[in-house]
Amino acid sequence: MKDHIETLCVQAGYQPKTGESRIPPIVQSTTFFYGDSQVMADLFDLKREGFFYSRLANPTVDALEKKIAALEGGAAGIGCASGMSALLLTAMTLCEAGDNIVTAGEIYGGTFNLFSTTLPKFGIKARFFDVDAPAEEIDALIDEKTKFVFAETIANPAVAILDFDKVAAICKKHGVLFIVDNTLASPALCRPLSLGADIVIHSTSKYLDGHAAALGGMIVDGGKFPYRGNPRYPAFNTPDESYHGLVYADLPVAFATKCRAQMMRDTGAIMSPQNAFLTLLGSDTLALRMERHSRNAEKVAAFLASHPKIEWVRSATLPADKYYALAKKYLPNGTGGMMSFGIKGDAKACARFMEHLRIATQETHVADVRSCVLHPASTTHRQLTDAQLIAAGIAPNLVRLSVGIENADDLIADLAQALETV
Ligand SMILES: *Cc1c(COP(=O)(O)O)cnc(C)c1O
Repeated sequence: MKDHIETLCVQAGYQPKTGESRIPPIVQSTTFFYGDSQVMADLFDLKREGFFYSRLANPTVDALEKKIAALEGGAAGIGCASGMSALLLTAMTLCEAGDNIVTAGEIYGGTFNLFSTTLPKFGIKARFFDVDAPAEEIDALIDEKTKFVFAETIANPAVAILDFDKVAAICKKHGVLFIVDNTLASPALCRPLSLGADIVIHSTSKYLDGHAAALGGMIVDGGKFPYRGNPRYPAFNTPDESYHGLVYADLPVAFATKCRAQMMRDTGAIMSPQNAFLTLLGSDTLALRMERHSRNAEKVAAFLASHPKIEWVRSATLPADKYYALAKKYLPNGTGGMMSFGIKGDAKACARFMEHLRIATQETHVADVRSCVLHPASTTHRQLTDAQLIAAGIAPNLVRLSVGIENADDLIADLAQALETV
């Protein structure tokens, strides 16, 4: 019998033994006691499960890894210090100099920088495709050095919806990994592993935590990709001399084991026990929160779309939106709280509007319980001219809104009064 997501949110990941704490304790220790040197030797040989040093694994982080792996329907999770470190470790586990990755262009700005600026310094090139491009165009970017294809379920901040069937078919044809950043959908609304993805990435700093309290990232290994004998992945098919001659393709969970044994070992970019604890608490209510975020966003988008001072609204909840059909297919229970819209007016009008908001505050964050807004043209992208903004796909009048779980009528009344001042 398979439990539903609501049940997994509160029950998965940690089962106490008699007399132990009901919720996962914060195990604030770098190291772990062993009295038997053979047991320790077996741990190092990966013959036995256990903890020996918190740079590699920690019981509190382990509880969160097991929980998010269960939520995504995956085989194993790896808790990372941030979403960015989860992405970096994933690339490091798969690529070396001379390799390339094929990625949607509509992705989070930090990920775009990692792929377009930082990885090329190490000889790993990114090839970008338009998420709406026809299959042939994406297919043509893949060669024998392509190690993975990457996209976001709901793109941040473009709010484009990924066509899973299109990309999954291409990846399957080439025997190449399909990796999806599921941060803005969360497993409560979409489970990429069931739609053809092989690995799922999260910034847990967003909806999984939900409270804007803890930074974190998670890599979920689906555990089913056929590495064995696949000429695209020689590093999975030859002995790892840095790890006792292990051949990762022979293991039940090849990617997660390689990622932890090599890259977590070498970087120490692991989530802290404190942040894992906070994220465990937050994720208990994930399913409930995502319902509310989605319903609120639907109401707010409908209000904005009908407002005379609004030029356009991008939200897949609107039947007129170009991603409406894909959202209905892949995210039938809602699309979360993210949207963007254009105010009729210039950047000054947008700034005025935001200063008058009482509930939604200006923040460089999204996807937590509190509504927040950001006007890229006067904040994150303020050094650009109007022409440069448009070239970057950011209209000068674009306001990004992350709808929280407040009362929808209160949010709408607040937006209405602030629009009066424009
Ligand atoms: C925020 C975000 C990231 C980066 O996560 P951090 O936890 O801030 O490092 C990656 N992908 C998406 C889609 C995000 O929204």
